Amino acid sequence: MDLILLGPPGAGKGTQAKMLVDRYGIPQISTGDILRAAVREGTPMGIKAKEYMDAGDLVPDEVVVGIVQERLQQEDCADGFILDGFPRTVAQADALEDSLKESGRGIDAVISLDVDIEALVGRLTGRRTCKDCGAGYHVKFDPPKTDLICDKCGGELIQRQDDQESTIRERLDVYRRQTAPLVDYYSQKGILFRVDGMAPIDSVQSEIVQIVKGLT
Ligand code: ADP
Ligand code: AMP
Repeated sequence: MDLILLGPPGAGKGTQAKMLVDRYGIPQISTGDILRAAVREGTPMGIKAKEYMDAGDLVPDEVVVGIVQERLQQEDCADGFILDGFPRTVAQADALEDSLKESGRGIDAVISLDVDIEALVGRLTGRRTCKDCGAGYHVKFDPPKTDLICDKCGGELIQRQDDQESTIRERLDVYRRQTAPLVDYYSQKGILFRVDGMAPIDSVQSEIVQIVKGLT
């Protein structure tokens, strides 16, 4: 089961992907997480990517395409994967299709999380992530039991550097210009499924599960 979760920053892709990982046992591939790890480790790629990420811009296609091609070859992707935050441009989508074709695979479904763009500023400024295990929370919509402490591992919850209002506006603009065209792109291929991303987290998950059931 090869899935893509599509939607603007803050639509809930990471939240839903993690729930799908628990349910189906296939990996979440988040290019944002992979890039943030490279930034933390100070690798040459991370140093280059950081400038784009801090500005709210997209990291160049060839960098992210390379990351995903390498990741998809790993053994844990053999039975499927959930792409979260990739592709973000038509060039990335074309490259993904080409490399999957080479291994006789193709995307089964693209799940578009439809959200009200204006609500995303509140979602992103309230987002908190566990520094140790990466679990996601929201101060209002999905709070931890104890302030700033991860329910799952006890790690510290931190705020992403790019989740400040000025950068958020730029990221949403980049989404409108470069990523939103992928909705039509996948719709024309007949593999787009739309979900109401403004519904509560568990309802969004149920809708996605229904879609996945329809695939098998
Ligand atoms: P994305 O991966 O698409 O950027 P996230 O999954 O990180 O988005 O979600 C952004 C923030 O919004 C997080 O703080 C998350 O807890 C919260 N969130 C996710 N889905 C919902 C929802 N359906 N309703 C309210 N808040 C949500
Ligand atoms: P995310 O965690 O998905 O919100 O991504 C955080 C940042 O990482 C983005 O604002 C981009 O700078 C970069 N990034 C993540 N995925 C991609 C991608 N597919 N293409 C280009 N840049 C990306």
